[in-house]
Amino acid sequence: MGTTKNIETIRDYIDGKWVASTAKTFVPVINPATKQELGASPLGTSEDVNRAVASAHIAFQEWKQTPVSDRIQFLFKMKNLMDANVEELARAVTREHGKTLVEARGSVKRAIQMVETATGMPTFQMGEFLEDIARGIDCNTIKKPMGVFAGIAPFNFPIMVPFWFWPFAIASGNTFVLKPSERVPLTFQLVFDLIEKTGLPKGVMNLVHGGKDVVTALCTHPDVKGLCFVGSTPVAKYIYTTGAAHGKRVQALGGAKNFMVVLPDAVMDKAVSTALESVIGCAGERCLAGSVIVCVGDETYKEVESRIVRSAADITVGDGLDTHVQMGPVISQEAKDRIKGLIQSAQDEGAKILLDGRKDVDQLPGYFLKPSVIGNVTENMRVAKEEIFGPVVLLAKVKTFDEAIAWMNRCNFSNTTTLFTQSGPATRKFCNEADPSMIGINIGVPAPMSYFSFGGMKDSFYGDIKAHGAASVDFFTDKKIVTTRWMAESSVW
Ligand code: NAD
Repeated sequence: MGTTKNIETIRDYIDGKWVASTAKTFVPVINPATKQELGASPLGTSEDVNRAVASAHIAFQEWKQTPVSDRIQFLFKMKNLMDANVEELARAVTREHGKTLVEARGSVKRAIQMVETATGMPTFQMGEFLEDIARGIDCNTIKKPMGVFAGIAPFNFPIMVPFWFWPFAIASGNTFVLKPSERVPLTFQLVFDLIEKTGLPKGVMNLVHGGKDVVTALCTHPDVKGLCFVGSTPVAKYIYTTGAAHGKRVQALGGAKNFMVVLPDAVMDKAVSTALESVIGCAGERCLAGSVIVCVGDETYKEVESRIVRSAADITVGDGLDTHVQMGPVISQEAKDRIKGLIQSAQDEGAKILLDGRKDVDQLPGYFLKPSVIGNVTENMRVAKEEIFGPVVLLAKVKTFDEAIAWMNRCNFSNTTTLFTQSGPATRKFCNEADPSMIGINIGVPAPMSYFSFGGMKDSFYGDIKAHGAASVDFFTDKKIVTTRWMAESSVW
């Protein structure tokens, strides 16, 4: 891996300035729809991390004393700048990631919502007070910022995912170092241009590019107080264990395998279109993407199968910048080969390929697959256990609702799930018994809004405090408890 390119191509942002990475190795950033090389991503070093953390550490001393109402003014400016640049940001996302422009605009809007919610920090960060916890003694809590936090992001949402963290971190008085995915480093070059325009004091927000070396340096640096990670499960585990061993708070969001359960009383046409969109949206490269559609009963299975194969066959695949395209490419040749291999494994293990998205794609200019639909999937097949992260619908049949829930709950991943039904009691049972933390009822991608919190369970999440919303304030602050007694009986009054 690695090509040598002009190191100025993609720059770090440290101490309020654009600077060259100390990287000696670079990875090409490829537009997955065209295979055109867009830039060279520097694989930075611990030296870059040391510079960024040193700046963030110094900036923290002043920033933590800046009143919260002053801190959030930078976020109001950021929101306005982003609103004015939605289209440019969305096009940057599509070029380097491949998702359609409609999907990219949605992800920019989600990022803006995070900024909006973080402007509520004066309320979120309020402490508590209780008078007379004992005679003459009062007690209060203060939510204190802790110092430098680091964010490590995946490739699949070049803009949105880092916004789950940094606006909340800095609004609550911390400073931040972000490492985007080396596969999609370009959008954040634009985002930092906007951050600079807000006039944010130097060192409060820093950007460092790199891969494993930079991540390890962040996980072990003594002045980094906490780590926010989103990516695959093996790396989430590595970051959780390494960060914790070095005394840091960690929230590490990992991979997923999401089940969608269809009951016989579902509104079938809408359930199928919603489930299909969940699986193939962003070419399946979403941690909330549906994967296994478990149909309860033969009739339900037959109806879902016939409808979904027809609809999936009609999807237009192509460059996401082209407005009539409904599904873009996957991120790389490696991803394409891996997904093709998983489809093959299903066939080899006895599943039925109802629509083969591997066909008629190799003549297209980028890393394209068409939607695939695989029927008769059973629990022990590889494809039913591993995260696919590609546009592959898996159809399975069970006899009872209980069987569907039990299968899902045996899965090691536990991020999200959806139930398609019109039944209140079935919904109630599902919410009560399903393991995944983010549940949709007739909603294919139940992504919590910015003011709720985000994250799963089991191998989909390591940590205890989830991302964004009010919960994130607990992650980014230390709750000091002050217990007070005034000794003098007093005199002046
Ligand atoms: P990834 O784990 O390969 O990379 C994520 C980040 O970790 C990148 O910044 C990368 O540079 C770094 N990294 C990669 N290998 C590393 C290593 N060996 N040591 C240290 N750091 C390393 O993930 P990805 O392929 O970029 O993203 C896709 C994954 O992210 C999928 O599994 C998806 O489910 C997951 N994801 C999860 C959520 C969620 O909310 N749970 C959201 C989005 C994506």
